[in-house]
Amino acid sequence: MRACVDIGGTKVAVSLSADSTSPLIGRRSEPTAKTGDNDAVAQQILRLIYQICAEQGIDAASVDRVGVSSAGPFVLRDGLFELATPNICGGIAGPARGLPNNWMTAVLEAPLKQRFSHVRVENDAVAALEAERRWGALQGTDHCAYVTWSTGVGVGLCVDGRVLHGKNGNAGHAGHSFVSDDDGNALCGCGNRGDVEALVAGNSIARRFGQPAPDLFAAAAAGEPQALATTEALCRVMGRMLYNLIATLDLERISLGGSVFWHNRDFLLPRLAAEIDGKLAALTRDAVLVPAGLGERVGDYAALALLD
Ligand SMILES: [Zn+2]
Repeated sequence: MRACVDIGGTKVAVSLSADSTSPLIGRRSEPTAKTGDNDAVAQQILRLIYQICAEQGIDAASVDRVGVSSAGPFVLRDGLFELATPNICGGIAGPARGLPNNWMTAVLEAPLKQRFSHVRVENDAVAALEAERRWGALQGTDHCAYVTWSTGVGVGLCVDGRVLHGKNGNAGHAGHSFVSDDDGNALCGCGNRGDVEALVAGNSIARRFGQPAPDLFAAAAAGEPQALATTEALCRVMGRMLYNLIATLDLERISLGGSVFWHNRDFLLPRLAAEIDGKLAALTRDAVLVPAGLGERVGDYAALALLD
């Protein structure tokens, strides 16, 4: 048996699967552990796997392979991945960010390796990119990206048919790039002020505009002028980031997912495309934005895609 784990800044989800083509079974999800010692997330994953096995009547000893798709960035300690995820580790940006811990990292791969013979950890956007290339909207494309617009902003990149990883497995952290000087006061969990994630991520929208992203987009869709102006500004920031990816990497297709995008995709997709279309046509005219083919299940399939 294999366990498929999706770690986000908001939720942790775990499913089991008999092999990489079987349906996911026994899915359990709960808020990401953020209190106690910095192995809390790893212990939460182990507990969820055991709970699913008990519920499904599966011998826990038969689970030997674990794929972990996680919000990054990562740091390597003794060759093993630890999370340095801004929305989980409160020590990175300090008390101003308001997380209930002072972790600089959360250990992940080491505690799992003590229990399972095969553990593969990838950035969630990279894993989702692999899933979208295998089963979703990026099938047959060698120059592509997956972008998640959710609690945070993540990117997975593939150029010339090769998925990009980088020196610490952190390729694709364009959410922490700067595209605007709109608001230097917006603090990202990574410690930057005014980067893309600080300006447009789901958690940032709630803190900057005093209302949750779903309420803001509902007001914009209803034509409320202030909400429309705010969401147009958010699309300008995200659209610039997407344009920069296309211009830098000569991409043909970008698949988009994540809760903020997914629940507002009819509203957002044309506005994001408008930030790209018409700019430097030689680079952009053959590039398209599409909704994730795997939809809201991309996170679950992301972990499955890591286990061949
Ligand atoms: Zn950042």
